[in-house]
Amino acid sequence: MKQKIKYLIWGCSTAIIALTAIQTYFIYNTYILKEKDAETLVRAELTRMESEINIDSIRNDWFTKAEILVRTKGAEAAATFLSRGSPAISRQVGAYIKKNKILEKYHTTYEVIIRKVSLHGDGYALNLNNKRWFANGVINGGHQLILHDLITNIDAGGGLVRDFNSRSSFTIHDGSNSILREMFGLLIFSVVLLTVVILLFYFSIRSLITQKKIADMQTDFINNITHEFNTPLATMGIALSTVRSQLLLMEENSISSNGLNVIDRQYHRLKKLINQVVTHTGVTGQLVLQKVEIPLMDFLGNLLDDFQSAHSGIDLIRKLKDEPEEILTDPFYLTTAMTNLLENAVKYGGTQIIFDVVKQENSCLFMITDNGIGIAQADIGHIFQKFYRVEKGDIHTTKGLGLGLYYTRRIAAAHGGEVTVQSIPGKGSTFTMTIPIA
Ligand code: ATP
Ligand code: MG
Repeated sequence: MKQKIKYLIWGCSTAIIALTAIQTYFIYNTYILKEKDAETLVRAELTRMESEINIDSIRNDWFTKAEILVRTKGAEAAATFLSRGSPAISRQVGAYIKKNKILEKYHTTYEVIIRKVSLHGDGYALNLNNKRWFANGVINGGHQLILHDLITNIDAGGGLVRDFNSRSSFTIHDGSNSILREMFGLLIFSVVLLTVVILLFYFSIRSLITQKKIADMQTDFINNITHEFNTPLATMGIALSTVRSQLLLMEENSISSNGLNVIDRQYHRLKKLINQVVTHTGVTGQLVLQKVEIPLMDFLGNLLDDFQSAHSGIDLIRKLKDEPEEILTDPFYLTTAMTNLLENAVKYGGTQIIFDVVKQENSCLFMITDNGIGIAQADIGHIFQKFYRVEKGDIHTTKGLGLGLYYTRRIAAAHGGEVTVQSIPGKGSTFTMTIPIA
């Protein structure tokens, strides 16, 4: 059992780890897909922006301006002009991005770098490398994505050469946050699901361990009590035979010998009961009956006499019929079953007990009715289970193992019969044991 629980804990832990890994993998994949989606969307929007603000013509104008400057004010003035970048276009781009829902949502920054510009003409040469042309923010620090490269080499004729090499790139600054916000529901759901699974595993294993502990305790308990009971019983047995042999020597005294018979009967019952506890608490196999023909009414008469002498305060109403009929049964087990029912009737509040026998064609019904506390409907289905006891606010007011009815039902079943119960809480209960006699 311990080994089984260990395997179960291992199995559960592995399952939880695998589940978490799969979940994480799926969430991660979703994240990557969403990131790619965002990138594609932003790329498309920026390309649209470039064509809408007509970046080509802006570039050509700007280029022409530089050339004019070279000619009119010299290469240096043109270089200064070029290195300033273009704040006006930067503003235009900034406004466009702010207005565009997608670009704004992802906090996109866009930048165009002039990687190389060369103007070679008659008597002058202008070279500029890696200058920022225009942008709506800083790209550094983010993951830079290339939108496109633009390379133009134009031999404008007359010894004029234009080289222009630019790169537009962008960065999605708020990508992960936006994506995580979109995935928030999914994330929460996954976490809740995992927590529920972990809790379910935890509680199942915990209750299993508790049950095992209880089962161990029950076994220990039974082993202990049987041991403790056997010692005084053995002594009692010896004392009993001594008393009996002394009585034989003395003058016949019917009162003492009657009393001695009761003690003897109960002594043997007690011995058998203890053996029964040992044999049957752990085993669920069939009981082996030793059936003999017994005169039913005499048998019940003795049984009820013994019961009445043990509980003199109880109003026991016997409805025995005066028939000399014999039935085939195991008297020891039948006594156990009847005694269990009668003892319960007293234990659970009965002050008046009606013992009724109804003989039918093929079966015999023993009905024990008490006026005790009764049994709630919810418990009725359980009281025949091994070790089941009705709990009253977690405190058992009466002592017991919860085995009585379990035995009784097994005894009835071994005879081919059954035990049923009808009860009204607060009013009392009727237990009916039916045994086939044909
Ligand atoms: P023991 O093993 O000593 O008989 P027990 O009496 O608690 O212990 P059962 O005889 O199996 O165990 O009974 C199971 C439960 O059914 C009892 O704990 C009790 O709550 C309920 N019960 C049984 N008989 C009656 C009754 N006549 N009236 C009310 N409740 C009963
Ligand atoms: Mg009982």
